[in-house]
Amino acid sequence: MASSPTDTDTVIVGASAAGLAVAACLSRANVPFTILEQSRAIAPAWRNHYDRLHLHTTKRFSHLPHHRFPRDVPRYPSRDQVIQYLEEYARRFALAPRFGERVVSVNREDDRWLTRTEAASYRSHNVVVATGYTQVPYRPSWPGLDSFAGPVLHSSEYRNGKAWSGRRVLVVGLGNSGGEIAIDLAEHGARPSVAVRNAVNVVPRDFLGLPILVWGIALSQLPVGLADAIARLVSRVSLGRLERLGLAPLPYGPMTQIRRHARIPLIDIGTIQRIRRGQVEVLPGVTSFGARGARFADGVERTFDCVVLATGYRPSVAAFLAPADRVLDSEGVPTSSGTEALPGLYFCGFHVAPRGMFFEIGREARRIGRAIRTRSAASG
Ligand SMILES: Cc1cc2nc3c(=O)[nH]c(=O)nc-3n(C[C@H](O)[C@H](O)[C@H](O)COP(=O)(O)OP(=O)(O)OC[C@H]3O[C@@H](n4cnc5c(N)ncnc54)[C@H](O)[C@@H]3O)c2cc1C
Repeated sequence: MASSPTDTDTVIVGASAAGLAVAACLSRANVPFTILEQSRAIAPAWRNHYDRLHLHTTKRFSHLPHHRFPRDVPRYPSRDQVIQYLEEYARRFALAPRFGERVVSVNREDDRWLTRTEAASYRSHNVVVATGYTQVPYRPSWPGLDSFAGPVLHSSEYRNGKAWSGRRVLVVGLGNSGGEIAIDLAEHGARPSVAVRNAVNVVPRDFLGLPILVWGIALSQLPVGLADAIARLVSRVSLGRLERLGLAPLPYGPMTQIRRHARIPLIDIGTIQRIRRGQVEVLPGVTSFGARGARFADGVERTFDCVVLATGYRPSVAAFLAPADRVLDSEGVPTSSGTEALPGLYFCGFHVAPRGMFFEIGREARRIGRAIRTRSAASG
């Protein structure tokens, strides 16, 4: 540990979309900052996501402040194109994160913030926490899971379906990762089943030639009840009656789902068609596992060769932020994002909205940049 802390105006924790976006805004405002990144490269999560991944949101609404995706990138950029874009973004604004610096604590000391990594410490007027809404893989447990003889992967560990051709794979959870992994498995000749415990809202990725994100932006201006009704109609017209496929709709629409539970509905990129064709099977929620397979809520038992847990992620802020109880909810999610949470403390990238996380990150980063510039100017 360095004996005395390094002074800087602003510490940014995390060098992926949110951290880089805030850094670019501060750079343009001539506010000094230091970016601390635990990994050895920017956007480590994107480097590790499965091969097939493309943005579900369009490039037009997914770029960060002051720099767009290149023209030759398609409407829905691939995982590699997102990484290239973020690398180019860092180059364009000459952003140089300090890699291999995992933040272990952030405390308020006198009128400054003290941020400690494993090897150094930093004293600053401001701290921006940009460590991601989806940081720690969430792995639920079921009776007997340990006895299952095949591999049990979290979606963050799944790369592609090559190894599973001709084999039975259970995907647990039908969120956006689960939906795409089921397609990937089917494309690789595997026999995927998806366990769907709860009712789901599903929307098409595009409707009448327009991305669903554009519809989401328009609908978010309407009263939520009306927006829900229109979104459900769009779903019915483009995807048909999902109840017949074993997918019960939630009792409320996609807009309410996002506002109430901070959860994006399933944006369909072809999973529903595969289910309809019998290439992806829908099963109810898992109740237990055995050595060769799983038992489901309807009492049926099935055998599987592999299990993929598409069960989501949790933020990791509570692990290092000292005043956690004042700014995080009971699930460790910041209660504000894009605004000052405590004097000089900001979160970026923790607000789930119909417009997509990248879009929100861009808006929040600009707001945080302005707030810090104003604070810096006021403190001389
Ligand atoms: C599979 C998947 C697909 C997605 N697709 C879309 C999409 O299509 N459209 C969309 O708008 N959004 C999408 N998102 C949501 C969101 O836009 C992305 O997760 C995006 O990467 C969020 O950026 P971020 O910077 O907030 O967090 P992250 O990308 O998670 O980055 C957080 C950074 O903080 C670092 N970090 C964490 N803890 C520490 C610590 N203690 N010390 C130092 N560094 C630390 C991490 O190493 C990482 O670099 C998707 C998310 C996932 C998981």
